[in-house]
Amino acid sequence: MMKTLPFTKEQIEEIIKEYPTPFHLYYEKGMRENARRLFKAFSWAPGFREYFAVKANPNPHIIKIMKEEGCGADCSSLPELILAERVGIKGDMIMLTSNNTPAEEYRYAKNLGAILNLDDITHIDYVDKHVGLPEVISFRYNPGPLKGGNSIIGVPEEAKYGLTREQLFDAYKIVKSRGVKTFGLHTMIASNELNADYFVDTAEILFDLVYDLSTEIKIDFDFVNLGGGFGIPYRPGDKPLDLEYISEKIRLAYEEKIIARGLKPLRICMESGRMMTGPYGFLVTRAIHRKNIYKNYIGVDACMADLMRPAIYGAYHHITVLGKENQKHDHRYDVTGSLCENNDKFAIDRMLPEIEIGDILVIHDTGAHGYAMGFNYNGKLRSAELLLREDGTVKKIRRAETVDDYFATLDFSTL
Ligand SMILES: *Cc1c(COP(=O)(O)O)cnc(C)c1O
Repeated sequence: MMKTLPFTKEQIEEIIKEYPTPFHLYYEKGMRENARRLFKAFSWAPGFREYFAVKANPNPHIIKIMKEEGCGADCSSLPELILAERVGIKGDMIMLTSNNTPAEEYRYAKNLGAILNLDDITHIDYVDKHVGLPEVISFRYNPGPLKGGNSIIGVPEEAKYGLTREQLFDAYKIVKSRGVKTFGLHTMIASNELNADYFVDTAEILFDLVYDLSTEIKIDFDFVNLGGGFGIPYRPGDKPLDLEYISEKIRLAYEEKIIARGLKPLRICMESGRMMTGPYGFLVTRAIHRKNIYKNYIGVDACMADLMRPAIYGAYHHITVLGKENQKHDHRYDVTGSLCENNDKFAIDRMLPEIEIGDILVIHDTGAHGYAMGFNYNGKLRSAELLLREDGTVKKIRRAETVDDYFATLDFSTL
């Protein structure tokens, strides 16, 4: 797959006249079309739901677009719950998949009517004591050695999340005995996974487990949640996930493992973040310095406060130098931000066309886990977020941080 941009250099130059670099620019049309494709692929599945993982892009304007396309919200903190609420997502269209959860968060979620997805067997008593058990409970399953891991989440046996298989049997028995009426089962073991069969396997594991739990404990399940972790093609050679293939394989597994076994029909849910918004965000930044020492560097006006993934995961993000798409990529650069940390680099040894100061660089696939992971180390201020709407206009959906924002939690008067 070639990496292309949904806008022209001229469009970006116009936008920059009003909004200085750096900024994240989100492409609304792409996001909406992608969401529609997901719902269409799973249209066979009764009541299919996608709970958009708010942590991937916690901007209410983006969450609202997701809501308008039919998504709920997957939250894991109090502010994320409030964001979902403020966007108007209601009741069981919110799922709280958190871990090490404080009572206050459970309380807020329960009051919203959100689905509580408990991360541990001890949380049954914890929720019961502090909040009272709700009518609907889901548990997060950690399959341990059953499932290989991947580089971001690690191997399941070493991941802090979820309950073991044995614990699940006890957990559902306990909540059933305490009056819980409606049950769900969740797992999330992948991150940025591009192997379609991984998600089919995950569905099969959950369907089999639903069968084992239902028959032993005599309960029906309302839903399974396959989690997030759907990958996107960050690299030019990567192939996007074939959603139609995944859906069809899951349909066959559902027929075989749920329907043919006489289990109650259940809802299939997922809580994807990256796949929903990742490919539709672009970090637009300008080259401000060129430096040649032992290696050649291009310094840009964005830094890892705007996009941490390359620094912390060594993640690849494609870079387009606007207007030079068709020039020879015959220069080797490290593209760097300005933090006093040598890992503040958007690319290392990247072959690019010759870059001059003032050139505009577009860093691809920043629509998920981009702005969201930003931080203020080294006094770096986070950039603005802009929405490129379907009619071609641009809306500012978050202003850039200012020095006053950075100082907002300080009181200089008591110095
Ligand atoms: C991070 C996370 C997601 C979203 O992951 P993506 O890789 O963005 O799809 C979903 N559910 C849980 C529990 C998560 O922690």
